Amino acid sequence: MNEIACIVSQNLSALRERITLACHRSGRDPHEVRLLAVSKTVPASVMKQAWTLGLTDFGENYVQEALEKQNLWPHIPPTQTTDPGRSSPTWHLIGPLQSNKTRTVAEHFDWVHSVDRLKVAQRLSEQRPDQHPPLNVCVQVNVQGEVGKSGIPLDEAHALCLSVAALPRLRLRGLMVIPDPERGSEATRRAFGQLRQLRDDLANHGLDLDTLSMGMSADVEDAIAEGSTCVRVGTALFGGRTPPAP
Ligand SMILES: *Cc1c(COP(=O)(O)O)cnc(C)c1O
Repeated sequence: MNEIACIVSQNLSALRERITLACHRSGRDPHEVRLLAVSKTVPASVMKQAWTLGLTDFGENYVQEALEKQNLWPHIPPTQTTDPGRSSPTWHLIGPLQSNKTRTVAEHFDWVHSVDRLKVAQRLSEQRPDQHPPLNVCVQVNVQGEVGKSGIPLDEAHALCLSVAALPRLRLRGLMVIPDPERGSEATRRAFGQLRQLRDDLANHGLDLDTLSMGMSADVEDAIAEGSTCVRVGTALFGGRTPPAP
């Protein structure tokens, strides 16, 4: 194994241990928590190493970057489930999505975690190719009401979820949140709890969602304690990212 593969392998073991411990602490089965490897800025060569270590789900923030990396894998049309015989990953878009990119995303991704407007959801549904299964989506919720941040406000989320769930070529899987780390870990935990509460409210209204996309490198434990089914981890797997030049 080369040096990078070795580091990723050690990071992955440590992360799996954190996930397992956190699950045990809250009486949950670690298999309920999908590990989404956040690969923004990570070269495709390193992602392939991660793939050989057993990581099957990759999260990308930028559409163009993701497409370039996808082109380096054998072409397999997106499928709905992570099938162990697959020779390419399950691709998740986790970054903000502008309406002028929806066609590309509808054609090239398996999941979108960042749906926060009906217009974007409608376009994704219209543009999802017929030969693909419905696109899996999560509604991103701005639980903390941060001004200028992505996500639908909490009090509008219920209505958006009902509308998105009715779109024919989408499959609404759940909810996503990115709490502001500046507010501290108690506020983060509270935000995770509020997202879970929203999921439960929706279930009481007949909308059963199987995904809570919450938790990143710094707050995997709190997210799992509040019911996360999908942690999105970059730094703790691949190391620190160099921020883009201003
Ligand atoms: C970058 C990013 C992550 C991963 O963050 P880390 O702190 O590096 O684990 C998760 N989710 C989203 C939406 C991101 O943009």
